[in-house]
Amino acid sequence: MRRWKDIPLWKDVSTKEWTDWKWQVRNRVMDVDTLAEVINLTDEEEAEIRDSMKYLRMAITPYYASLMDPDDAHDPVRKQAVPTSNEIRFKDYEMTDTVWETVDSPHEGLTHRYPDRVLFLLTDQCSMYCRHCCRRRIVGQTDHQRSWEEIKEGIDYIRETREVRDVLLSGGDPLMVSDEFLEKVVREIRKIKHVQIIRLGTRTPVVLPYRITPKLVKMLRKYHPIWLNTHFNHPNEITSQSKRAVETLVDAGIPVGNQSVLLKGVNDCPTIMKKLCQDLTWIRCRPYYIYQCDIAKGLEHFRTSTAKGVEIIEALRGHTSGFAVPEFIIDAPMGGGKIPVGPNYVVSMSDKKIVLRNYEGGIFSFPEVEGDRISVCPPKCKLCKDHPELESNEGVAGVLAGKKLCLIPEGTVREARRKAYQKEKKHAGRRSE
Ligand code: SF4
Repeated sequence: MRRWKDIPLWKDVSTKEWTDWKWQVRNRVMDVDTLAEVINLTDEEEAEIRDSMKYLRMAITPYYASLMDPDDAHDPVRKQAVPTSNEIRFKDYEMTDTVWETVDSPHEGLTHRYPDRVLFLLTDQCSMYCRHCCRRRIVGQTDHQRSWEEIKEGIDYIRETREVRDVLLSGGDPLMVSDEFLEKVVREIRKIKHVQIIRLGTRTPVVLPYRITPKLVKMLRKYHPIWLNTHFNHPNEITSQSKRAVETLVDAGIPVGNQSVLLKGVNDCPTIMKKLCQDLTWIRCRPYYIYQCDIAKGLEHFRTSTAKGVEIIEALRGHTSGFAVPEFIIDAPMGGGKIPVGPNYVVSMSDKKIVLRNYEGGIFSFPEVEGDRISVCPPKCKLCKDHPELESNEGVAGVLAGKKLCLIPEGTVREARRKAYQKEKKHAGRRSE
Protein backbone atom coordinates (compact mmCIF):
# COMPACT_ATOMS: atom_id res chain seq x y z
CA MET A 1 0.00 0.00 0.00
CA ARG A 2 1.30 3.41 -0.95
CA ARG A 3 0.79 6.58 1.04
CA TRP A 4 -1.51 8.81 -0.98
CA LYS A 5 0.96 11.66 -0.74
CA ASP A 6 3.44 9.50 -2.66
CA ILE A 7 1.02 9.36 -5.61
CA PRO A 8 1.52 12.58 -7.64
CA LEU A 9 -2.21 12.90 -8.42
CA TRP A 10 -3.11 13.21 -4.74
CA LYS A 11 0.08 14.63 -3.26
CA ASP A 12 -1.64 17.88 -2.24
CA VAL A 13 -4.72 16.27 -0.71
CA SER A 14 -5.04 16.99 3.01
CA THR A 15 -5.72 14.29 5.61
CA LYS A 16 -9.11 15.90 6.25
CA GLU A 17 -10.07 15.53 2.59
CA TRP A 18 -8.62 12.03 2.17
CA THR A 19 -10.50 10.64 5.17
CA ASP A 20 -13.79 12.29 4.14
CA TRP A 21 -15.93 9.65 2.42
CA LYS A 22 -17.72 12.25 0.32
CA TRP A 23 -14.39 13.56 -0.99
CA GLN A 24 -13.44 9.98 -1.83
CA VAL A 25 -16.69 9.44 -3.79
CA ARG A 26 -16.37 12.79 -5.61
CA ASN A 27 -12.80 11.96 -6.60
CA ARG A 28 -13.24 8.37 -7.74
CA VAL A 29 -11.07 7.26 -10.60
CA MET A 30 -13.51 6.99 -13.48
CA ASP A 31 -11.47 7.37 -16.64
CA VAL A 32 -8.36 5.87 -18.17
CA ASP A 33 -6.28 9.05 -18.12
CA THR A 34 -6.75 9.50 -14.37
CA LEU A 35 -6.07 5.82 -13.76
CA ALA A 36 -2.84 6.13 -15.73
CA GLU A 37 -1.71 8.70 -13.16
CA VAL A 38 -2.12 6.10 -10.39
CA ILE A 39 -0.88 2.85 -11.95
CA ASN A 40 1.28 2.06 -14.94
CA LEU A 41 -0.73 0.92 -17.95
CA THR A 42 0.35 -0.29 -21.35
CA ASP A 43 -1.37 1.14 -24.46
CA GLU A 44 -3.09 -2.23 -24.89
CA GLU A 45 -4.42 -2.17 -21.31
CA GLU A 46 -5.73 1.37 -21.82
CA ALA A 47 -7.62 0.30 -24.94
CA GLU A 48 -9.09 -2.72 -23.12
CA ILE A 49 -10.33 -0.55 -20.27
CA ARG A 50 -12.04 1.88 -22.65
CA ASP A 51 -13.81 -0.99 -24.42
CA SER A 52 -15.04 -2.84 -21.35
CA MET A 53 -16.20 0.31 -19.55
CA LYS A 54 -19.06 0.46 -22.05
CA TYR A 55 -20.65 -2.48 -20.20
CA LEU A 56 -19.89 -1.69 -16.56
CA ARG A 57 -18.52 1.72 -15.77
CA MET A 58 -15.27 2.08 -13.87
CA ALA A 59 -15.19 3.82 -10.51
CA ILE A 60 -12.38 3.26 -8.00
CA THR A 61 -12.12 5.16 -4.74
CA PRO A 62 -8.73 6.86 -4.31
CA TYR A 63 -8.32 4.86 -1.08
CA TYR A 64 -8.76 1.50 -2.87
CA ALA A 65 -6.63 2.68 -5.80
CA SER A 66 -3.81 3.42 -3.35
CA LEU A 67 -3.79 -0.30 -2.38
CA MET A 68 -2.94 -1.34 -5.95
CA ASP A 69 0.56 -2.30 -7.01
CA PRO A 70 1.26 0.21 -9.82
CA ASP A 71 3.51 -2.20 -11.70
CA ASP A 72 1.73 -5.53 -11.38
CA ALA A 73 -1.23 -6.30 -13.65
CA HIS A 74 -1.86 -9.43 -11.55
CA ASP A 75 -2.18 -7.54 -8.28
CA PRO A 76 -5.31 -8.93 -6.53
CA VAL A 77 -6.67 -5.50 -5.65
CA ARG A 78 -6.10 -4.18 -9.15
CA LYS A 79 -7.81 -7.22 -10.71
CA GLN A 80 -10.97 -6.43 -8.75
CA ALA A 81 -11.02 -2.76 -9.77
CA VAL A 82 -9.56 -2.31 -13.24
CA PRO A 83 -11.59 -3.49 -16.27
CA THR A 84 -10.11 -5.82 -18.86
CA SER A 85 -11.36 -6.98 -22.24
CA ASN A 86 -12.23 -10.35 -20.66
CA GLU A 87 -15.44 -8.69 -19.48
CA ILE A 88 -16.70 -8.35 -23.01
CA ARG A 89 -16.09 -11.97 -23.99
CA PHE A 90 -19.43 -13.59 -23.33
CA LYS A 91 -20.32 -17.26 -23.09
CA ASP A 92 -23.59 -18.78 -24.27
CA TYR A 93 -24.61 -20.01 -20.83
CA GLU A 94 -24.04 -16.67 -19.08
CA MET A 95 -27.07 -14.71 -17.89
CA THR A 96 -27.81 -11.13 -16.91
CA ASP A 97 -29.90 -11.94 -13.84
CA THR A 98 -28.41 -15.30 -12.96
CA VAL A 99 -30.21 -15.83 -9.66
CA TRP A 100 -33.60 -14.45 -10.79
CA GLU A 101 -33.69 -11.51 -8.40
CA THR A 102 -36.08 -9.76 -10.77
CA VAL A 103 -38.27 -12.85 -11.14
CA ASP A 104 -38.89 -13.39 -7.41
CA SER A 105 -39.72 -9.71 -7.13
CA PRO A 106 -43.11 -8.47 -5.98
CA HIS A 107 -41.86 -4.86 -6.27
CA GLU A 108 -39.13 -3.12 -8.21
CA GLY A 109 -35.94 -3.46 -6.17
CA LEU A 110 -37.36 -6.01 -3.73
CA THR A 111 -36.75 -9.76 -3.93
CA HIS A 112 -38.73 -12.19 -1.79
CA ARG A 113 -37.32 -15.70 -2.32
CA TYR A 114 -36.72 -17.32 1.03
CA PRO A 115 -39.57 -17.79 3.51
CA ASP A 116 -38.74 -15.15 6.11
CA ARG A 117 -36.46 -12.59 4.51
CA VAL A 118 -36.33 -10.07 1.69
CA LEU A 119 -33.61 -8.34 -0.28
CA PHE A 120 -34.26 -4.63 -0.70
CA LEU A 121 -32.13 -2.55 -3.09
CA LEU A 122 -31.91 1.12 -2.12
CA THR A 123 -29.65 2.40 -4.87
CA ASP A 124 -27.72 1.29 -7.92
CA GLN A 125 -24.68 3.27 -6.84
CA CYS A 126 -21.51 1.77 -5.37
CA SER A 127 -18.38 3.57 -4.31
CA MET A 128 -16.41 1.17 -6.46
CA TYR A 129 -17.68 -0.95 -9.33
CA CYS A 130 -16.15 -4.36 -8.72
CA ARG A 131 -15.13 -6.10 -11.90
CA HIS A 132 -16.63 -9.35 -10.62
CA CYS A 133 -20.01 -7.81 -9.78
CA CYS A 134 -22.83 -10.22 -10.53
CA ARG A 135 -25.41 -7.44 -10.20
CA ARG A 136 -23.78 -5.61 -13.11
CA ARG A 137 -27.12 -5.55 -14.93
CA ILE A 138 -28.16 -2.74 -12.59
CA VAL A 139 -25.22 -1.28 -10.71
CA GLY A 140 -23.94 2.01 -11.92
CA GLN A 141 -26.72 2.45 -14.46
CA THR A 142 -27.91 5.74 -12.99
CA ASP A 143 -25.50 6.13 -10.05
CA HIS A 144 -28.49 7.29 -8.01
CA GLN A 145 -30.59 6.14 -5.10
CA ARG A 146 -34.21 5.09 -5.55
CA SER A 147 -36.87 7.69 -4.93
CA TRP A 148 -38.69 7.68 -1.59
CA GLU A 149 -41.92 6.79 -3.44
CA GLU A 150 -40.33 3.62 -4.86
CA ILE A 151 -38.83 2.72 -1.49
CA LYS A 152 -42.14 3.31 0.27
CA GLU A 153 -43.81 0.71 -1.97
CA GLY A 154 -41.22 -1.84 -0.87
CA ILE A 155 -41.74 -0.93 2.79
CA ASP A 156 -45.51 -1.30 2.33
CA TYR A 157 -44.92 -4.82 0.97
CA ILE A 158 -42.80 -5.70 4.01
CA ARG A 159 -45.49 -4.30 6.31
CA GLU A 160 -48.20 -6.35 4.63
CA THR A 161 -46.15 -9.57 4.54
CA ARG A 162 -46.10 -10.86 8.07
CA GLU A 163 -43.62 -13.68 7.47
CA VAL A 164 -40.80 -11.21 6.72
CA ARG A 165 -38.60 -11.07 9.82
CA ASP A 166 -35.27 -10.17 8.19
CA VAL A 167 -34.74 -7.28 5.76
CA LEU A 168 -31.45 -7.11 3.87
CA LEU A 169 -30.73 -3.61 2.58
CA SER A 170 -28.41 -3.73 -0.38
CA GLY A 171 -27.85 -2.13 -3.77
CA GLY A 172 -25.55 -1.10 -5.27
CA ASP A 173 -24.29 -0.18 -1.87
CA PRO A 174 -26.85 0.99 0.71
CA LEU A 175 -24.18 3.08 2.43
CA MET A 176 -23.95 5.27 -0.66
CA VAL A 177 -27.10 7.05 0.46
CA SER A 178 -26.87 9.82 3.04
CA ASP A 179 -27.15 9.06 6.76
CA GLU A 180 -30.42 10.98 6.79
CA PHE A 181 -31.99 8.99 3.95
CA LEU A 182 -30.78 5.69 5.37
CA GLU A 183 -32.21 6.59 8.77
CA LYS A 184 -35.57 7.41 7.18
CA VAL A 185 -35.65 3.91 5.61
CA VAL A 186 -34.40 2.06 8.69
CA ARG A 187 -36.77 3.97 11.00
CA GLU A 188 -39.79 3.03 8.88
CA ILE A 189 -38.76 -0.64 8.70
CA ARG A 190 -38.06 -0.76 12.42
CA LYS A 191 -41.65 0.36 13.10
CA ILE A 192 -42.87 -2.91 11.56
CA LYS A 193 -43.46 -5.29 14.46
CA HIS A 194 -42.77 -8.55 12.61
CA VAL A 195 -39.36 -7.39 11.33
CA GLN A 196 -36.84 -8.79 13.76
CA ILE A 197 -33.51 -7.86 12.16
CA ILE A 198 -32.26 -5.38 9.58
CA ARG A 199 -29.12 -6.25 7.67
CA LEU A 200 -26.85 -4.11 5.54
CA GLY A 201 -24.84 -5.59 2.67
CA THR A 202 -22.04 -3.11 1.95
CA ARG A 203 -18.53 -3.17 0.56
CA THR A 204 -17.63 0.21 2.04
CA PRO A 205 -15.52 -1.17 4.94
CA VAL A 206 -13.25 -2.62 2.22
CA VAL A 207 -13.26 -0.02 -0.54
CA LEU A 208 -14.29 3.11 1.36
CA PRO A 209 -13.64 2.56 5.07
CA TYR A 210 -14.04 6.27 5.83
CA ARG A 211 -17.79 5.80 5.24
CA ILE A 212 -17.99 4.10 8.64
CA THR A 213 -18.14 7.25 10.73
CA PRO A 214 -19.04 7.68 14.42
CA LYS A 215 -22.13 9.62 13.23
CA LEU A 216 -23.30 6.70 11.06
CA VAL A 217 -22.92 4.07 13.78
CA LYS A 218 -24.52 6.36 16.37
CA MET A 219 -27.56 6.56 14.09
CA LEU A 220 -27.64 2.82 13.30
CA ARG A 221 -27.37 1.67 16.89
CA LYS A 222 -30.69 3.36 17.66
CA TYR A 223 -32.38 0.73 15.48
CA HIS A 224 -30.80 -2.46 16.80
CA PRO A 225 -30.62 -5.31 16.03
CA ILE A 226 -28.67 -4.24 12.95
CA TRP A 227 -26.31 -6.72 11.29
CA LEU A 228 -23.84 -6.03 8.50
CA ASN A 229 -22.11 -8.16 5.91
CA THR A 230 -19.17 -6.92 3.91
CA HIS A 231 -17.01 -8.28 1.13
CA PHE A 232 -13.24 -8.75 1.66
CA ASN A 233 -11.68 -10.98 -0.97
CA HIS A 234 -7.96 -10.81 -0.25
CA PRO A 235 -5.76 -10.26 2.81
CA ASN A 236 -4.21 -7.17 1.15
CA GLU A 237 -7.56 -5.44 1.69
CA ILE A 238 -7.14 -5.64 5.44
CA THR A 239 -5.48 -2.36 6.36
CA SER A 240 -5.44 -0.17 9.45
CA GLN A 241 -8.37 1.77 7.92
CA SER A 242 -10.54 -1.23 7.08
CA LYS A 243 -9.74 -2.68 10.53
CA ARG A 244 -10.86 0.57 12.14
CA ALA A 245 -14.07 0.55 10.11
CA VAL A 246 -14.98 -3.00 11.16
CA GLU A 247 -14.05 -2.34 14.78
CA THR A 248 -16.16 0.82 14.86
CA LEU A 249 -19.18 -1.20 13.73
CA VAL A 250 -18.57 -4.07 16.13
CA ASP A 251 -17.98 -1.70 19.05
CA ALA A 252 -21.42 -0.23 18.30
CA GLY A 253 -22.95 -3.71 18.69
CA ILE A 254 -23.27 -4.40 14.95
CA PRO A 255 -22.09 -7.95 14.17
CA VAL A 256 -19.98 -7.92 10.99
CA GLY A 257 -19.73 -10.90 8.65
CA ASN A 258 -17.82 -11.39 5.43
CA GLN A 259 -18.91 -12.78 2.06
CA SER A 260 -16.02 -13.43 -0.30
CA VAL A 261 -16.32 -14.42 -3.92
CA LEU A 262 -13.96 -17.08 -5.21
CA LEU A 263 -12.05 -15.35 -7.98
CA LYS A 264 -9.47 -16.83 -10.32
CA GLY A 265 -6.14 -15.10 -9.88
CA VAL A 266 -7.32 -13.22 -6.81
CA ASN A 267 -8.04 -15.69 -4.04
CA ASP A 268 -8.35 -19.18 -5.58
CA CYS A 269 -5.74 -20.57 -3.25
CA PRO A 270 -6.18 -22.31 0.14
CA THR A 271 -3.25 -20.39 1.65
CA ILE A 272 -4.55 -16.97 0.59
CA MET A 273 -8.02 -17.86 1.86
CA LYS A 274 -6.65 -19.12 5.16
CA LYS A 275 -4.72 -15.90 5.67
CA LEU A 276 -7.83 -13.89 4.76
CA CYS A 277 -10.11 -15.82 7.13
CA GLN A 278 -7.65 -15.66 9.99
CA ASP A 279 -7.03 -11.94 9.50
CA LEU A 280 -10.79 -11.35 9.34
CA THR A 281 -11.30 -12.93 12.74
CA TRP A 282 -8.41 -10.80 14.01
CA ILE A 283 -10.35 -7.65 13.04
CA ARG A 284 -13.57 -9.20 14.49
CA CYS A 285 -15.23 -9.86 11.16
CA ARG A 286 -16.71 -13.36 10.95
CA PRO A 287 -15.98 -15.23 7.68
CA TYR A 288 -19.50 -16.20 6.63
CA TYR A 289 -19.62 -17.28 2.98
CA ILE A 290 -17.29 -17.96 0.09
CA TYR A 291 -19.41 -17.76 -3.05
CA GLN A 292 -18.71 -19.63 -6.21
CA CYS A 293 -18.50 -16.88 -8.86
CA ASP A 294 -21.87 -16.52 -10.61
CA ILE A 295 -22.44 -17.17 -14.30
CA ALA A 296 -23.24 -13.52 -14.92
CA LYS A 297 -22.32 -12.11 -18.33
CA GLY A 298 -18.63 -11.25 -18.64
CA LEU A 299 -17.38 -13.09 -15.54
CA GLU A 300 -16.04 -16.26 -17.16
CA HIS A 301 -12.42 -15.18 -16.63
CA PHE A 302 -12.98 -14.95 -12.88
CA ARG A 303 -14.63 -18.34 -12.51
CA THR A 304 -12.80 -21.27 -10.96
CA SER A 305 -13.85 -24.90 -10.77
CA THR A 306 -16.25 -25.57 -7.91
CA ALA A 307 -13.70 -28.18 -6.77
CA LYS A 308 -11.40 -25.30 -5.82
CA GLY A 309 -13.96 -24.11 -3.27
CA VAL A 310 -14.22 -27.61 -1.79
CA GLU A 311 -10.42 -27.80 -1.61
CA ILE A 312 -10.31 -24.47 0.24
CA ILE A 313 -12.84 -25.60 2.84
CA GLU A 314 -10.86 -28.85 3.24
CA ALA A 315 -7.78 -26.75 3.98
CA LEU A 316 -9.65 -24.66 6.56
CA ARG A 317 -11.96 -27.01 8.50
CA GLY A 318 -10.00 -28.42 11.44
CA HIS A 319 -6.86 -26.54 10.39
CA THR A 320 -7.96 -23.27 11.93
CA SER A 321 -10.58 -21.93 14.39
CA GLY A 322 -14.10 -23.11 13.56
CA PHE A 323 -15.46 -19.56 13.41
CA ALA A 324 -12.76 -18.71 10.84
CA VAL A 325 -14.26 -21.28 8.45
CA PRO A 326 -16.93 -19.89 6.11
CA GLU A 327 -19.42 -21.94 4.13
CA PHE A 328 -18.74 -22.46 0.45
CA ILE A 329 -21.92 -21.56 -1.42
CA ILE A 330 -23.25 -21.96 -4.93
CA ASP A 331 -26.05 -19.50 -5.52
CA ALA A 332 -28.00 -21.72 -7.89
CA PRO A 333 -29.14 -20.12 -11.16
CA MET A 334 -32.85 -19.47 -11.78
CA GLY A 335 -33.66 -18.74 -8.16
CA GLY A 336 -32.44 -22.03 -6.70
CA GLY A 337 -30.96 -20.08 -3.83
CA LYS A 338 -27.80 -20.55 -1.82
CA ILE A 339 -26.67 -24.14 -1.63
CA PRO A 340 -23.75 -25.07 0.64
CA VAL A 341 -21.14 -27.33 -0.96
CA GLY A 342 -18.16 -28.86 0.79
CA PRO A 343 -16.11 -31.87 1.66
CA ASN A 344 -18.05 -34.92 2.82
CA TYR A 345 -17.26 -36.02 6.36
CA VAL A 346 -19.77 -38.90 6.55
CA VAL A 347 -18.09 -42.12 5.40
CA SER A 348 -21.00 -44.45 6.08
CA MET A 349 -23.86 -45.13 8.47
CA SER A 350 -26.06 -47.89 9.83
CA ASP A 351 -28.93 -47.71 12.31
CA LYS A 352 -26.33 -48.35 15.06
CA LYS A 353 -23.42 -46.14 14.05
CA ILE A 354 -22.30 -43.28 11.90
CA VAL A 355 -18.76 -43.49 10.52
CA LEU A 356 -17.01 -40.16 10.06
CA ARG A 357 -13.67 -38.94 8.90
CA ASN A 358 -11.92 -35.93 10.40
CA TYR A 359 -9.67 -33.29 8.82
CA GLU A 360 -6.60 -35.51 9.32
CA GLY A 361 -8.21 -38.40 7.44
CA GLY A 362 -8.81 -40.40 10.64
CA ILE A 363 -11.93 -42.61 10.58
CA PHE A 364 -14.10 -42.63 13.70
CA SER A 365 -17.43 -44.13 14.61
CA PHE A 366 -20.11 -42.54 16.72
CA PRO A 367 -22.96 -44.58 18.22
CA GLU A 368 -26.54 -43.79 17.19
CA VAL A 369 -29.20 -43.33 19.89
CA GLU A 370 -31.48 -46.21 20.68
CA GLY A 371 -34.89 -46.81 22.23
CA ASP A 372 -36.20 -44.03 24.46
CA ARG A 373 -33.27 -41.77 23.61
CA ILE A 374 -34.88 -40.94 20.26
CA SER A 375 -35.95 -37.26 20.33
CA VAL A 376 -39.48 -36.49 21.49
CA CYS A 377 -41.05 -33.18 22.47
CA PRO A 378 -40.55 -32.13 26.10
CA PRO A 379 -43.99 -32.70 27.74
CA LYS A 380 -44.63 -29.04 28.54
CA CYS A 381 -43.28 -27.49 25.34
CA LYS A 382 -45.94 -25.65 23.31
CA LEU A 383 -43.65 -23.61 21.09
CA CYS A 384 -44.83 -25.05 17.77
CA LYS A 385 -48.47 -24.74 18.78
CA ASP A 386 -48.03 -21.12 19.93
CA HIS A 387 -45.74 -20.18 17.04
CA PRO A 388 -46.58 -22.25 13.96
CA GLU A 389 -44.62 -19.74 11.89
CA LEU A 390 -41.41 -21.17 13.37
CA GLU A 391 -41.97 -24.59 11.85
CA SER A 392 -40.09 -25.34 8.63
CA ASN A 393 -42.78 -27.09 6.62
CA GLU A 394 -41.42 -26.42 3.15
CA GLY A 395 -38.89 -28.36 1.13
CA VAL A 396 -36.85 -31.24 2.48
CA ALA A 397 -37.33 -30.03 6.08
CA GLY A 398 -41.09 -30.39 5.52
CA VAL A 399 -40.62 -33.98 4.33
CA LEU A 400 -38.46 -34.77 7.38
CA ALA A 401 -41.07 -33.21 9.66
CA GLY A 402 -43.76 -35.42 8.11
CA LYS A 403 -45.69 -32.46 6.67
CA LYS A 404 -45.19 -33.82 3.16
CA LEU A 405 -44.62 -37.32 1.95
CA CYS A 406 -42.53 -36.37 -1.04
CA LEU A 407 -41.48 -33.52 -3.32
CA ILE A 408 -42.25 -34.13 -6.99
CA PRO A 409 -40.79 -31.89 -9.71
CA GLU A 410 -43.27 -30.30 -12.11
CA GLY A 411 -43.03 -30.26 -15.89
CA THR A 412 -41.56 -33.73 -16.35
CA VAL A 413 -42.59 -36.17 -19.13
CA ARG A 414 -43.71 -38.57 -16.43
CA GLU A 415 -46.02 -35.95 -14.95
CA ALA A 416 -47.56 -35.20 -18.37
CA ARG A 417 -48.10 -38.92 -19.00
CA ARG A 418 -49.69 -39.40 -15.58
CA LYS A 419 -52.03 -36.43 -16.09
CA ALA A 420 -53.10 -37.66 -19.55
CA TYR A 421 -53.74 -41.13 -18.14
CA GLN A 422 -55.84 -39.77 -15.26
CA LYS A 423 -57.84 -37.58 -17.66
CA GLU A 424 -58.53 -40.59 -19.85
CA LYS A 425 -59.65 -42.68 -16.86
CA LYS A 426 -62.01 -39.87 -15.77
CA HIS A 427 -63.59 -39.70 -19.24
CA ALA A 428 -63.91 -43.49 -19.42
CA GLY A 429 -65.65 -43.41 -16.00
CA ARG A 430 -68.13 -40.76 -17.19
CA ARG A 431 -68.90 -42.77 -20.33
CA SER A 432 -69.71 -45.92 -18.34
CA GLU A 433 -72.11 -44.03 -15.98
S1 SF4 B 1 -19.96 -3.29 -4.14
FE1 SF4 B 1 -21.21 -5.12 -4.54
S2 SF4 B 1 -22.90 -4.40 -5.83
FE2 SF4 B 1 -21.31 -2.84 -5.86
S3 SF4 B 1 -20.10 -3.30 -7.66
FE3 SF4 B 1 -19.11 -4.31 -5.90
S4 SF4 B 1 -19.96 -6.38 -5.90
FE4 SF4 B 1 -21.31 -5.12 -7.19
